[in-house]
Amino acid sequence: MTHPFTQADINKFISLVQGAERITVISHKSPDGDSVGSSMAMYHWLKSWRSDKEIKISHPDVAPEFIQWADAQKVIRNFQDHKEDVESALNSADLLICLDFNDFSRVGKDMEPFLANSPAKKVMIDHHMHANLGQFDLSFSFPDHCSTCELLMELILATGHGDKITPTLGACLYLGIVTDTGSFRFNSVRSETHKLVALLLEAGVKHTTVHETTFDDNTLERIQLRSYILSECMEVWPDLGAAVLYLSEEDMKRLPMQKGDTEGLVNVALSIKGVTRAAFFKEEDGYIRISMRAKADKTVNAIAQQYFQGGGHQQASGGRFDGTLADAIAKFKEVLQHD
Ligand code: 5GP
Ligand code: MN
Repeated sequence: MTHPFTQADINKFISLVQGAERITVISHKSPDGDSVGSSMAMYHWLKSWRSDKEIKISHPDVAPEFIQWADAQKVIRNFQDHKEDVESALNSADLLICLDFNDFSRVGKDMEPFLANSPAKKVMIDHHMHANLGQFDLSFSFPDHCSTCELLMELILATGHGDKITPTLGACLYLGIVTDTGSFRFNSVRSETHKLVALLLEAGVKHTTVHETTFDDNTLERIQLRSYILSECMEVWPDLGAAVLYLSEEDMKRLPMQKGDTEGLVNVALSIKGVTRAAFFKEEDGYIRISMRAKADKTVNAIAQQYFQGGGHQQASGGRFDGTLADAIAKFKEVLQHD
């Protein structure tokens, strides 16, 4: 398989791993399939490669339930619930491997100082744009890749460790690839993506099991919540080729809801005929969290960056708005009217 790395970077990575005694794997706030998948795949890789080392995973907050199968042994510690454990994992590590984010701020303001002040060497493996390269000792930053898991798999192969891709490790890589590509749909999918996935199936990954456990394991309450939002909390603006979904704090308190229940719902709004941009506005503690998606020739990353303190990929971005739900939606509409 081809890969995009220089031999010097591969060698540097190998020597950082070999030179470290305590390694902590980190990823971004609001875990998704790619952050959990890449963290767990990295964990399994390091465990089989350097079984003599202490390997930990520290995430800012807990993952939604539908991807927790990837961490069957419950090795991921989260800062929100286990602050002291995570603080010590960051302070005592001599190597931090940062996955699926490229700027310290993405771990959230509470955990960020502990990451920034950690004396450990820091490696970044990520596929987002606008990397803050100065924060890391070694960076594998490839925005043309569909997922961090795809990039990580190339790194495993490039270091000659293809034989360490077990069905368990491979399923974690598959999870990140399938979730970050909308099941191989987004334009970030390359022919290489499919070649890598072919290797995963050859390594024994049961792709149907990953799909079923991840996407087809809904509770009835989740399906009903999603249908409520689609029927009661959606506006479609045909002239703008856009649709928005919203969820107020009041509705969130009132309705039976679990973390991750609204995951991917914005894609349903985007799937409406004639809609090429969709956004989901969710009221959180004093601000509005926004998820944006685009299709066809439209993009959303510039809107997220310019108007909503965020960013992301061209057709999948996120951001925030300080103000009311109604003002956030009005702002989005105004931006689209002048776009
Ligand atoms: P989601 O809508 O799934 O929360 O986020 C979609 C993508 O947008 C993520 O994969 C991430 O790349 C990006 N993203 C989400 N929130 C933020 C943010 O606050 N800042 C930046 N820079 N990117 C974000
Ligand atoms: Mn990702």
